[in-house]
Amino acid sequence: LGCPLEERVFERGQVVTILTDQPVNGGLLDYIVSQNSVQLGQFVEVPIGKRDHVGVVWSNGSAKIDRVKLRYINRSLDAPSMSNELKKFLIVVASYTVNPMNKVFKLLLGGIELKRSPKGKQFYKASTKILLNSTPKQKKIIRFLVNSPDKFFTMKDLTTTLDVSQSLIKKLVKLGNIETHFGHRYLPYENCQAVFSKSLSKAQKLASDHLCELVSSKKYNTTLLRGVTGSGKTEVYLDAVSQALMMGRQILVLVPEIALSIDFVKRVVDRYKVKPGEWHSGIQKSERSRLYNAVAGNKVQLVIGARSALFLPFVDLALIIVDEEHDGSYKQEDVVCYNARDMAVMRASILGAQVILASATPSLETWVNVEIGKYSRIDLNERYGSAILPAIEVINLKEENIPKGKFISNTLKNEIEIRIKNSQQSLLFLNRRGYAPVTICKMCGFQLGCQTCDARLVQHRLKNKLMCHQCGKSEPIPAICPNCLTSGQLRALGPGVEKIADECQDLFPKARVGVLSSDSMEDTSQMQEKFFRLASGEFDIIVGTQLVSKGHNFPNITLVGIIDADLGLQGSDLRAAEKTFQSLRQVSGRAGRHKKVGKALIQTYLPTHPVILAIAKGNDDNFWALEAEVRKKAGSPPYGKMIAVILSGPNEKIVFDYGRQLVQLWMNSYQGDAEIFGPAQAPVAMIRKRFRIRLLIKCEKSKDIQPKIQKWLARFPTPRFVKVLVDVDPQNFF
Ligand code: ADP
Ligand code: ZN
Ligand code: ZN
Repeated sequence: LGCPLEERVFERGQVVTILTDQPVNGGLLDYIVSQNSVQLGQFVEVPIGKRDHVGVVWSNGSAKIDRVKLRYINRSLDAPSMSNELKKFLIVVASYTVNPMNKVFKLLLGGIELKRSPKGKQFYKASTKILLNSTPKQKKIIRFLVNSPDKFFTMKDLTTTLDVSQSLIKKLVKLGNIETHFGHRYLPYENCQAVFSKSLSKAQKLASDHLCELVSSKKYNTTLLRGVTGSGKTEVYLDAVSQALMMGRQILVLVPEIALSIDFVKRVVDRYKVKPGEWHSGIQKSERSRLYNAVAGNKVQLVIGARSALFLPFVDLALIIVDEEHDGSYKQEDVVCYNARDMAVMRASILGAQVILASATPSLETWVNVEIGKYSRIDLNERYGSAILPAIEVINLKEENIPKGKFISNTLKNEIEIRIKNSQQSLLFLNRRGYAPVTICKMCGFQLGCQTCDARLVQHRLKNKLMCHQCGKSEPIPAICPNCLTSGQLRALGPGVEKIADECQDLFPKARVGVLSSDSMEDTSQMQEKFFRLASGEFDIIVGTQLVSKGHNFPNITLVGIIDADLGLQGSDLRAAEKTFQSLRQVSGRAGRHKKVGKALIQTYLPTHPVILAIAKGNDDNFWALEAEVRKKAGSPPYGKMIAVILSGPNEKIVFDYGRQLVQLWMNSYQGDAEIFGPAQAPVAMIRKRFRIRLLIKCEKSKDIQPKIQKWLARFPTPRFVKVLVDVDPQNFF
């Protein structure tokens, strides 16, 4: 197997260091072994203060604390041990992201409930007793159970799959024809057999062969698989998955959005006729335990997950695929700030596994890594089969005379009309959730803002609420202005997807208009269902946010309209051009993915902006070269390294003073290593009544600055109630 457990055993009375998710000493505390023996990597329960916590046996005791002061381990937990490789990975993540071990350990605990030995469940199996005088229904149940002798079914499994009543099953238990078991025997995952694509184009075949060879090599490497939308990236990397399956090894496919996983799971089932393991926040706890255990026991080979799946206890991982590698949602921006793409590369390099980064619009980081030879690259330049890339046209809004408060130009309107007549779908893209970003009083000019954040409240008409996109709080839309108390004068300014949908409905009263954004749905299953309905062509016009730009297949869409291409270009964000380019390219790529020809229309006031020109002319490489030049000159990422430190607390002065102190200390001690900027008020100066201050450290890319940052932050204690968040390679600067 990939990484054997270290077989270090500690005996009763020995002192060991346990890692927990509690902040004391970075989570590492000494305990005395109370049981006959414990193994390195074993999960245990230990007391800290008055409470019990989950920990893992980490190393020899540190011998820093007098033995008489030490406490005993409570007990061992029934969970697969942590491998040496996973332990190494946690250490690397902690030092790269400048976080204490306890916080990183929390990422791994995310999915498992070890606290108390979790409650068992009742399972049902056929007994050996012969069924006499049975009814057809009873026979059906028994036959089903007899045919799956290794499986354990719950009552619910049986009643739903067989469509029988609970009482019928209980009766069979009473008669002795069904046995019950109590415990944690999770249903096994079905065996996934390798299936290779049989219809690859020449370019696809070359790519597939190359990737399969890499997987066979059992070495570490990262490959960028770059291909225009619809070129068959998925088709090709599933061949690499098959190669690993054939070798009996494990594969992790990361997808950026859990709503995307449904498409992907369908694709996997189409090819392999087997459901893969799934890991994300929409998966039930019991299912997650099942997967966790199966992964650790090498009983499941293919796992599809969100970024946190990276911390699963794989034992024989051969391949990690990061789909849509450029996607911003791979970056976690709280507790432990990490980019799952980059950590995937780290885990693979520890393991000697392969990484495939797939994208139509790779991040500049990845481009540069290819350029300097760190990653290899494979290109798929054409759409598969008869599908061709959409024509892209720019609509100059300066020439369009759109009425005030409206956002759809005549040109765009006419194109939508043609689609409706031909029973084809149109997709309108605007990256703004809700109805309107601003609510303002016409009498006094007052803007409605959040009570606890430095943020305007966004109107959501579908929910009939005002929402704060920073803290998530919502309140009813008031009838009178809270400032001047005039009634009926509040106006919703600016566009959101819901307002665009209203405008469509006004323009085309008979059209079926759907809104797709992350908050128009309550939960994952609703979201997935909605995607399904969209894909099946139930709507004439779909208005969506960023969500629609990602890898979905909407076969009937032949028109994509970008409502406001300039939206992302306005900020001071160093990645503004890159991100806008990516999302415009991705959204445009949603048009005409099957046999019908597609068109993308881009509404803009800046028709000569380099990003807009590059999109319209399809000159991607040129755009990337220019963008790279700009960053290189400025020493910005990916050519330079940036690390943000965000301080927050309820008292503005205390936070600011602490910031000043830190900056002073940096200047005194590390000025030669890296520049520091700040302290500055964060663009979002308050969230949940906590004032926010930012510091920024900038240095050469090659510099190993993280250890110094760690030392620096440890030099004096953080003031009470102040939180420090370190963000290495920040993506957002709010
Ligand atoms: P990408 O991931 O690059 O967007 P996909 O792999 O999703 O591309 O392919 C786009 C469409 O073309 C899908 O419907 C896919 O099934 C089809 N396709 C691509 N390559 C092949 C192939 N070699 N044989 C059959 N269908 C293919
Ligand atoms: Zn708020
Ligand atoms: Zn007012």
